[in-house]
Amino acid sequence: MNFRDVFNLNYIYIIAMIKENKVLKYDVLIIGAGPAGCACALELRNAGLKVALVDKASFPRDKVCGDAIPGRAIKTLKQIDPGFEIAFKNFHKKYETKKTTLYYKKKAITFNWVRTAYTCTRMEFDNFLLGLVRENTSTDIYTNTLPYNFIKTDDGFSVIIKNSATIFNTKILIGADGAQSAIAKQLTNKKLDRDHHVGSVRAYFSNVSGIEDTTEIYFDREFLPSYLWVFPLPGNIVNVGFGMLSGEIAKRRINIKKAFYDFIDNTPELKLKFKNAKQLSDLEGFGLPLGSKVNRLSGANFMLTGDAASLIDPISGDGIGNAMLSGKLAAEQTVSCFKQADFTAVFMKKYDQSLLQIIGEELNTHYRAQRILSKMPLLLDILFLACKNQTLNKIVRKKL
Ligand SMILES: Cc1cc2nc3c(=O)[nH]c(=O)nc-3n(C[C@H](O)[C@H](O)[C@H](O)COP(=O)(O)OP(=O)(O)OC[C@H]3O[C@@H](n4cnc5c(N)ncnc54)[C@H](O)[C@@H]3O)c2cc1C
Repeated sequence: MNFRDVFNLNYIYIIAMIKENKVLKYDVLIIGAGPAGCACALELRNAGLKVALVDKASFPRDKVCGDAIPGRAIKTLKQIDPGFEIAFKNFHKKYETKKTTLYYKKKAITFNWVRTAYTCTRMEFDNFLLGLVRENTSTDIYTNTLPYNFIKTDDGFSVIIKNSATIFNTKILIGADGAQSAIAKQLTNKKLDRDHHVGSVRAYFSNVSGIEDTTEIYFDREFLPSYLWVFPLPGNIVNVGFGMLSGEIAKRRINIKKAFYDFIDNTPELKLKFKNAKQLSDLEGFGLPLGSKVNRLSGANFMLTGDAASLIDPISGDGIGNAMLSGKLAAEQTVSCFKQADFTAVFMKKYDQSLLQIIGEELNTHYRAQRILSKMPLLLDILFLACKNQTLNKIVRKKL
């Protein structure tokens, strides 16, 4: 603790005494009830620890996303408990997709997936996950609660809540508070790095023709390796979005909202499909912190998970799977900390290691692919050409 923290803490406790504040004590405090935070709470369900899950939003709540649920998210649910995977398979608000079609320069390649893939609005998916936490764990859930100050103490953290008399004391703090993580900013001094961050926009549409059970990706030479996605959802609704590296947006002074509508207008296949489309929501912007460089993931008494730790795939933009995996691994590390009575930064590093062991190489490879594609867009032409040839087509599909 430095002088400022000691001063803050004493000040807070004096004010707490005057106001007769409530101090709640937990073994584990998870901030953020998205996929990372919920996976963490689920994995801790039998650990015998006192756990709280805190979110600033009221649920169900939306989260700007493409709504494609990656295989790793389902796999992680299954690893936590096979019953949770079954619950998701029985969840009727998701949508099953069987194919992905890539479009580029009026050509299309379709991939039929061996396993069924899923889309689900984040409003529904995240509420489903929080429902699992409610039904299967003894976690104390605090929604509509905004923690904003995380003060290191000798025994963990004191967490101060905005407009509330409550103070949370915890031995372990899990940062699962998303792309603009206050915890990552305060505890690791994290700053936005435009070369490893995507700026994106998304809106929902109805009456887009010819989508059915296919997720669609549209490339445009001008924006490579970025793409526009059209993902089907239940009820004849589609999720449409577009994102670019924030560094490129700034360098080329691109108006991303305008680029989104221009993309649809200038792509003949899209123009046709959107002829009778109705936009159902505002075009909303949000950032994707990419896992294309290694960030600090932990320290004494704390770990960062999901977007707070910047774990999004630099090629696909998938982040839900890595968020859930990191939440699960942070829970496993938490259990080890209590078993060994070791909460030091050195011991916490085991979490960084186990996470990077599983996803480090994959993130690295995808980052290299992203860089190569942005420098040599001709490669995409070659890929589409190769897919016209039967033998090469088989090789390319196997490699993808
Ligand atoms: C446009 C776009 C499209 C995307 N498409 C896909 C896709 O199709 N598939 C995919 O896998 N990934 C996609 N992603 C990435 C994905 O959305 C994230 O990786 C994923 O949501 C990360 O989960 P998380 O739990 O770490 O954070 P989040 O889902 O952001 O959850 C964080 C939670 O913390 C809460 N919170 C934030 N700050 C605080 C605070 N101070 N105190 C308390 N609570 C707080 C929030 O209310 C929220 O509930 C996309 C992202 C964007 C922006």
